[in-house]
Amino acid sequence: MVLRFECYHCLHCCFFSTPVDYPVVLREEVNRLKDLASKRGILLNFIQVTSDFYLWIIDGFCPFYDLRRRRCTIHELKPISCKMFPLLINIETGEVSVSSACDWVAGHIDELMNIGDSISNVFQNEFRVALNLFRRIKA
Ligand code: SF4
Ligand code: SF4
Repeated sequence: MVLRFECYHCLHCCFFSTPVDYPVVLREEVNRLKDLASKRGILLNFIQVTSDFYLWIIDGFCPFYDLRRRRCTIHELKPISCKMFPLLINIETGEVSVSSACDWVAGHIDELMNIGDSISNVFQNEFRVALNLFRRIKA
């Protein structure tokens, strides 16, 4: 059977309780997110980590998360790090890894350990997004 990632739409990846989980966002994404937030009367906080990347500081649920419908309310406009999750990318090395914080990943960990280099097949959409970001980091 072919293993394919299927998001459960659980609550976890839009809830933040520790700085290591904060989304990494590009400079232009900071501006876009701030614009979207200001239309809703929300103030967002970011810390610059490199010339191109920022950490989006979120304490608790993301302000764009609809808890009742369990959906992101800015789906098309959400940052790359959200689009590629549960894949993570090291912004210094470009290395891609899989987050065990994801419920689907946690439930398929044994299968994932045995698939070798076919992460790109399991996480097809997410891998495509990660690849674009990787190309940008390496440019
Ligand atoms: S932008 Fe959307 S996907 Fe990203 S953390 Fe917020 S609610 Fe979740
Ligand atoms: S933790 Fe994983 S399964 Fe749950 S919403 Fe996030 S990506 Fe989907």
